[in-house]
Amino acid sequence: MNLEQLRARAQAFTEDVAREGYLAYSGQKENPAFQQLYVQYADILTPDTLAWCIERFQGAAPGSEEQRSARLLLDWQIESQAARQLAPLDEREVALENNAVVRMDDGRTFPYQSVSIEIANTADWRERHRIDDARAALVASEFAPLRLEHLQREKDYIESLGIAGDYNATFEATSGISLQGLADECAAFLRDTQAMWDDTIKARLAAFGVPAGTATRADALAFFRLKEFDAAFPGTAMEANVRRNIAELGIDATADGRITFDLSDRPGKRSRAFCSPVEVPAEVYLVMRPHGGQTDYTTFLHELGHALHFGYARPDYPFEYRWLGDNSVTESYAMLMDHRMQDRGWLLRYTELSSPRVGEFLRFVGLEELHFLRRYCAKFIYEVQAYSGTVPWSSLPALFAESLTKATTFQYREEDAFLDHDPRYYSSRYLRAWQLQAVVNASLTERFNEDWWRNPSAGPWMVRELFGEGQRETAGEIAARVSGSAIGFAPLVAQIERLLDAS
Ligand SMILES: [Zn+2]
Repeated sequence: MNLEQLRARAQAFTEDVAREGYLAYSGQKENPAFQQLYVQYADILTPDTLAWCIERFQGAAPGSEEQRSARLLLDWQIESQAARQLAPLDEREVALENNAVVRMDDGRTFPYQSVSIEIANTADWRERHRIDDARAALVASEFAPLRLEHLQREKDYIESLGIAGDYNATFEATSGISLQGLADECAAFLRDTQAMWDDTIKARLAAFGVPAGTATRADALAFFRLKEFDAAFPGTAMEANVRRNIAELGIDATADGRITFDLSDRPGKRSRAFCSPVEVPAEVYLVMRPHGGQTDYTTFLHELGHALHFGYARPDYPFEYRWLGDNSVTESYAMLMDHRMQDRGWLLRYTELSSPRVGEFLRFVGLEELHFLRRYCAKFIYEVQAYSGTVPWSSLPALFAESLTKATTFQYREEDAFLDHDPRYYSSRYLRAWQLQAVVNASLTERFNEDWWRNPSAGPWMVRELFGEGQRETAGEIAARVSGSAIGFAPLVAQIERLLDAS
């Protein structure tokens, strides 16, 4: 097989998997045939193909375009071959997710899929903790063993390939991301924001009615739900308002018809929103069940950022630049959009939030941003320790609960350790996306002023300089190209300080 043939087969396979996923998770197909696709495309998931990809990567000149392409295809081979081995396990987990029921001592039951929403909407903290106890019991007995097996088998498989010393070294070689470097940045972020966090969260929690020292992750779900602002973010107006925003940016929200908004209710449709690129850039779906409220607006903007990125990718680029690459990039365009929820001018123009309440909303959003970043920093540091092999699997739940609790003030449960663990360091993509969106936002502000999001010249620039490039470059390369600066947490700390002081 030569490069062109591999690209063509890989693209066909990726499109078929994406289409199957879109149909299944949007409730249009009951039994997805993922395993059958692995059989159909067995010719590109062989030890020979992997060896060919490793050889091409190791033989390419450092810094060359060939090495860039080879790194992306090798990363894809590793991911796909690991996914094929783990597919039966994943299917069991999906079936479990669809059917599992949380049972309370008093006989009440909740579908596992919606128990987080139930917790977030429960006003009494004692009751929230009771529901969460029942959820954790189900997680411990059913989900955690499956997820632990997934993580262990994936680590063993990737280390067996012999690409680099161990799991972490292999990730660094194929992603270009320094794990220790990022973990050090995360530790510094946690240190630098500790006082700011402590000052704000304690008073806020007391006002929320949870006694100091007893707040748990379940309380965090309710606390950040921010119900009192629901009326300012009506579900009925969301799509029209955001479409108007994209039109004012000078581009089309559907990328001239290539993006489909699948926002209607349908039995079997996942409650969690997603963007599904079935063909890049020709056929992209944004799937969601909106009900209104600030979290829905954030989610919709986030998924729209992904959809615009894929829908405006250059069609003449090879498969690997349109489909593969550093997911920090697509996550950063998603975050660039969802961070409009931190933008006073944007909120006043596209939501029903009125001037007198916008300061209060921004202060809360600042706290939410700080919470999420601290949570992800702690999670990432923990995951590096978990994958390093220096801590036994049996000690990880205690380390997880301790690390996350310390960073967020909310008590985490040991039962959730293996569920709240992003395989293959997806958490690193989010952290770098956070950093890159801040750089891109600053660059857009410099070029098109602080209301760049309604400047008709800004959209075409974004298509040309950002979306069109797909994921050919890494997050760090894009930051250097558009602003000449490196990515880091400093601009995020400054933004959070501004938000917490908003009036
Ligand atoms: Zn995303």
